[in-house]
Amino acid sequence: MIQEKRIVDHFASLVAIDAPSRGERALAETVKGQLRALGLSIEEDQAGAAIGGDCNNIYATWPGTLDWPPLIFCAHFDTVEPGQGKRAVIGSDGIITSAGDTVLGADDLSGLTAIVEAIRSIGEDGLEHRTVELFLTVAEEQHLLGSTHAELQRLKGRQAYVLDASGSPGTAIVQAPGNIGLVFELQGQSAHAGMEPEKGVSAITAAAKGIAAMRLGRIDTETTANIGRICGGGATNIVADACTVTAECRSRDWAKLEAQA
Ligand SMILES: [Zn+2]
Repeated sequence: MIQEKRIVDHFASLVAIDAPSRGERALAETVKGQLRALGLSIEEDQAGAAIGGDCNNIYATWPGTLDWPPLIFCAHFDTVEPGQGKRAVIGSDGIITSAGDTVLGADDLSGLTAIVEAIRSIGEDGLEHRTVELFLTVAEEQHLLGSTHAELQRLKGRQAYVLDASGSPGTAIVQAPGNIGLVFELQGQSAHAGMEPEKGVSAITAAAKGIAAMRLGRIDTETTANIGRICGGGATNIVADACTVTAECRSRDWAKLEAQA
């Protein structure tokens, strides 16, 4: 059975191990030991060397008692800064916080703890279960650097749960938009705006015409576009010779995203 006190104790013990991005080895070794004791076999890839870290992505397998396809559970080891010397403070109301001078690291140690507790309790209760594959990544907080170097062929499952999102228990994120950032750099020709404006080419005017012709805001139910920043020009008496426009578009449909960009 799931044991609340065991979850809290396990979580607090993992919080006490520093695991910055690219420095996850101590935490990973601890978790590997726990998983081996529960009967999982463990492999690693070469991600650590590829990203300048001390730890690889971990792949662990718990053989099932049911002849169903494997199910993958994913979480990440690393925590954001400030994360050196963190510890879990358990309040009288049961709410767990950091000591205040670091992050707690619930992202993503709560996911990691939940996975281990589920395996432990299912094993203890002798429940039938599918083969479980764990994909535990490093340097997730560095734009998914660890999983970028993953060797996904090591995973046999085709269904996965990633335990790494905020929200109430039971919330699942099943779609997320792709995002393309855009920077437009416009080059014009400077001139004195009062004396000889006809000799100038205003980069700001060009940018304004371009932006006015763009489709922006909500494009459709799954696509958006936005100009976030315009920067250019100097004094009011000079035709601006440079202007930079920064924008983004998002869509849950890759073809629409590319078309909008
Ligand atoms: Zn996370």
